[in-house]
Amino acid sequence: MRPIATPSYTKEILERYDLYAKKGFGQNFLIEPGIVDKIARNAVVSDHTLAIEIGPGIGALTQYLCEYAKKVIAFEIDERLPEVLKDTLQAYDHVEIIQKDFLQIDIQELVERYKKEGYDVVVAANLPYYITTPILFKLFSSKAAVDSITVMMQKEVADRFSAQKNTKDYNALTVITQYLCDVRTVAKVPKNVFLPKPKVDSTVLQFHIKEVNSKVDEQAFFEMVKACFRQRRKTLLNNYGEYLKDKEKARIILEKGNIDAGLRAESLSLDEFLHVYEIQTTYEKENIL
Ligand code: SAM
Repeated sequence: MRPIATPSYTKEILERYDLYAKKGFGQNFLIEPGIVDKIARNAVVSDHTLAIEIGPGIGALTQYLCEYAKKVIAFEIDERLPEVLKDTLQAYDHVEIIQKDFLQIDIQELVERYKKEGYDVVVAANLPYYITTPILFKLFSSKAAVDSITVMMQKEVADRFSAQKNTKDYNALTVITQYLCDVRTVAKVPKNVFLPKPKVDSTVLQFHIKEVNSKVDEQAFFEMVKACFRQRRKTLLNNYGEYLKDKEKARIILEKGNIDAGLRAESLSLDEFLHVYEIQTTYEKENIL
């Protein structure tokens, strides 16, 4: 196999097809085979894995996914690329290229269909950075039974998804993501392994979607978390009190949860947010406050 992810072969393919990277589609092609190999190896969990790829580009990662997975389905928005991929991936007959915006597909239906056939289903991508969060939340909230999501994104965004409490990157997005998924860092990737070279470094993260907690109304919980972070400088008592439209009620709930009302939201762990939410819903249900 000749890796596509090298500077010389990538340039050769771009020249052969008279292609240029479309900024609007977030096109930065990987030119380091070690990185694509690492993403593919981490993504593919078994010999009966279907790998769903978002944005195959000219096939750098797709090629490695084809080496390791039983089947690969790749969604590419750029109508110039399916023809190129037919050529660059001609060695593989278990790959399907679908020219479509990933945000438009019914991911749940797709995953369920292949799960029924006995596949493990994973998602892998070097994401188009302009829509990292919408793509990830489409996957998280679809509740599709995806076994894992292994994706590269801008370092700063990855830092927020994987942040620990009491750090500057820890925010509502962190808490919501870590409520929905287990998150781990797979690799840190410098900006010089892309063509064209972007302004920022990247990180590969892996997400495993957690079991649904039927006791939690997710939308209500997420609204509460967002409200607690609304004004970062303000204390929990102020932000949460504004959310409840009742500061006294906020004080009583926080006290019951053994949480110092003078703290800021960034000091609360996911479990502490869940604890506050639980007390609040119990009090509301039983009309205590
Ligand atoms: N996987 C290739 C690589 O690693 O070299 C290309 C990665 S490039 C960062 C992102 C790819 O996603 C581009 O090929 C781009 O055209 C594609 N893309 C952008 N928006 C998309 C969308 N909404 N749906 C599917 N593909 C998209």
